[in-house]
Amino acid sequence: MEVSTIIRYIQLLILGSFGIGLQAAEVIDLRMWRAPDHTRLVLDLSDSVEYSSFLLEDPHRLVVDIKSSFTYLSFNGLDFTDSSISGIRSGVRNGDSLRIVFDLTSAVVPNAFSLAPNSEFGERLVLDLYDKTGSPQSQSAEPPATRVETGARRDIVIAISAGHGGEDPGSIGYDGRIKEKNITLAISQALYECLEKLPGYKPVMIREGDYYVELKRRPEIARRNRADLFIAIHADWYRNSRARGVTVYALSGDRADRENSARVAEKENSSDLLGGVGGDLALGELDDDVALTLVSLQMAWSMEQSLIAGTSILDSLAGVTRIRKNKVQHASLQVLNSPDIPSILIETGYLTNPEEALRLSNRNFQERMALAIADGVTSYFYEAPPVGTLVAWHKENGVIPKSLTVKRGDTLSEIAEQFGLTVTELKSINGLQGNTIQIGQVLELPGNDSPLTSEHKIQRGETLSEIAQFYRVSLADLRAANNLRGDRILIGQKLIIPPVR
Ligand SMILES: [Zn+2]
Repeated sequence: MEVSTIIRYIQLLILGSFGIGLQAAEVIDLRMWRAPDHTRLVLDLSDSVEYSSFLLEDPHRLVVDIKSSFTYLSFNGLDFTDSSISGIRSGVRNGDSLRIVFDLTSAVVPNAFSLAPNSEFGERLVLDLYDKTGSPQSQSAEPPATRVETGARRDIVIAISAGHGGEDPGSIGYDGRIKEKNITLAISQALYECLEKLPGYKPVMIREGDYYVELKRRPEIARRNRADLFIAIHADWYRNSRARGVTVYALSGDRADRENSARVAEKENSSDLLGGVGGDLALGELDDDVALTLVSLQMAWSMEQSLIAGTSILDSLAGVTRIRKNKVQHASLQVLNSPDIPSILIETGYLTNPEEALRLSNRNFQERMALAIADGVTSYFYEAPPVGTLVAWHKENGVIPKSLTVKRGDTLSEIAEQFGLTVTELKSINGLQGNTIQIGQVLELPGNDSPLTSEHKIQRGETLSEIAQFYRVSLADLRAANNLRGDRILIGQKLIIPPVR
C-alpha cells in the first residue's frame, strides 16, 4: 500500500468516526476536454452522488454542491487553455458536502448529469459548460448554413460522424489500449480527405477532435449543414477474439432483424442513426393525421435511401476488407425519432480481434477503407443525384467519374452502357483481354489520370508476403500490380495495393 493510500484510509476512518464517512463518495479525479462549443468536465467518483449546481455573476462562477462527499484533489496547476474556466476551488460545506466553485472567464450554459460505471470508468458526474455564444439553445435558433454553390450547382453534403470521443472511449481493443474513439476519428478524417478532393462533394465532420458530441446533437449538426447523407463510423467489440468483419447498418423501421437492431441500439445507443423529430417541419402546427402522414413519407424515403446507400458502400468495402454480414442490416428506431436524412452506420471491424484491430490502427489501411467508403458514396449519388447538384449536372452532361470499382452483379456491358462506352472501348482503356471482371476491381474510365488505388510505403523489416497478408491480397496480385518478378523490395519504395478478390 502506498503512503498516500494509507493516509487516505486513515482519513476515511476519521470521517467515518464522525458518522459521515461510510457513505461518503470521494471525488477521485477530474478530467477535462475542450470541444468547439463547450468545455466538458468529468468528475470521477467512488460512488453515486446527489448534487446541485447554480450560476453566479460578477464575476461568472459555476457552483456545484455534492452531498456527502469529499476530495483530496488539488485543482491547482490544471491547464485551462481555450476553456471558459480560469480556476477551480473546493471546500467543505455543511459538514459533509463538497462545494466546487468554477471561476469562469465568460458566461456559460451548464448541463450537469451523472454517468453510470462502464468498462473503463466508475460513477461520474459530467459538467458540460456550453459557451454562451455557442450554446445548444442559441445554435438551434441559428439559420441553417447555406449550401456551398458551384455556379448554380450545389455540392452534395456528407456528414461524417466519428463515433464516441472524449469521455466516451467506445470499445476497447483486445490489448486494453486501442480505443474505438481514436480509430473512428482517424477513419472519419481519412474519409473527409477523400471526399474533399472530389468535385461536387462537401464533407462535414460532426466531431473534429477528441471530445464528445451528444448523440442527439449529431443529426442536428448534419441537418444544420443540410447534409444529403449521414455516415456514422464505429468499430465493433465482442466477447471473444474471433468475431470479425465489417457490418453496415441502415436506418430502418423494419424490425426484421431484431437481434442485431437490439444489439446495436444497446451498444451504440443507436440514436446516432436517429434523425430526431423535426427538421424544417413544424409538426405542432399540423393536424395529427397530416403530421403523421408527412413523417411516415419522409421516413419511408430516408429508409429506402439509407438502404441503397448502405448497399453501395458495403459492396465497395467488399473490395478491401472482410464482410461480416452480406447484406445491409437494419437498425430499427422508435417511431417518433423521424429521420429526415438518409443515415448509415458502419462498424468497420472488431477491435477485440487482434488482426483487425492492428489493421484498423494502421494509417494506410484506414485510408484504404476511407477510399472504399467514398467510392460507395459516389456510386450511390451518381446513380440518382439530387436535383440541382454538380453531380446531377455532370451526369446530364456526360461528365463521368474517373474510375469505378466493380460491384457484385456488375457486368462489363452494363458498365459500358452506363457510361456511354462500347465494351471494346472499356476493355481497351483498362487493358482487359477477356470479359471477366472481379468484384473490387477498379476500372478506369475515359479522362482518368488518377486511378483509384491505395499505396503502401515500405518500412524497415517488412516483407512482401507480410504486406500481402496485411491487406488480405494475394502475393501474386501484389506482384502483378507492381510489376515485380521476385520478392525483392526496398525501404521507402511505394507499392500499389490492388483490391481484394
Ligand atoms: Zn461504437
